[in-house]
Amino acid sequence: MESSLRITGLDAAYGAVRALDDVSLEVRAGETVALLGTNGNGKTTLMRCILGLLRPTRGTITAVLDGQEHGLVGRSPEEIVELGIALVPEGRRLFPRLTVEENLLLGAYRRAARAAIRRNLDFCYETFPRLKERRSQAVGSMSGGEQQMVALGRAVMCAPKILLVDEPSVGLAPILVSRTMEAVAELKEKLGLTVLMAEQNFHQAVRIADRGYVLVHGKVEFQGDSPAALGDSDLVRKFYLGL
Ligand code: ATP
Repeated sequence: MESSLRITGLDAAYGAVRALDDVSLEVRAGETVALLGTNGNGKTTLMRCILGLLRPTRGTITAVLDGQEHGLVGRSPEEIVELGIALVPEGRRLFPRLTVEENLLLGAYRRAARAAIRRNLDFCYETFPRLKERRSQAVGSMSGGEQQMVALGRAVMCAPKILLVDEPSVGLAPILVSRTMEAVAELKEKLGLTVLMAEQNFHQAVRIADRGYVLVHGKVEFQGDSPAALGDSDLVRKFYLGL
């Protein structure tokens, strides 16, 4: 069943600091949409609002999951995860002293996911064979790229329909960023996910995105209906490509 996300007129603030200003965007079923923006422009704030970690001061967030429409504002993060939305947070937020497998299993707290725990674990290991080899290794002793795979795997363990990925490239060498993007694309294909990915690495993000939005100071300043349209935008050329 197809899943999608629609955000309209969203404002969010931290005290007097306004972080999102009238943001509207849509992720249609089966799309990968890039949320582009340099540091501090509101990408993480938007992800936090979707997952119920921060309550917006205005606007709506609507997810269609299994054909049913749900308003997300006012729900707890637990309820939102239960509906089928998972976040791969910036900086990965893993438990460094726990093993790969323990970290993965901790992702499976959603009720629907607990029934399919073995199948999802097998799927993670099949998609990321390195994790299978390292299943008993403490996550803190793994490389940044491997840790990013664990973070993606942990999100998959909750059997999501909509996957939010916040700046997967942070702290990774270019080759690992590239692999991480391929991993997101592969998960999306295999699981039929709908993906919203925040990224400041324009070139890497558009390799897998169908289209995207550019956030500047908490506002959507541009939306491009294709990677080419994004690359042609004066805003992207000036701020992200240095042209
Ligand atoms: P980054 O890539 O650095 O995470 P971002 O685009 O995700 O950037 P946000 O983290 O959403 O941006 O930050 C948007 C704005 O809100 C920034 O001005 C930031 O300083 C501010 N901000 C974020 N978190 C807080 C907080 N907990 N308290 C106060 N201000 C905050």
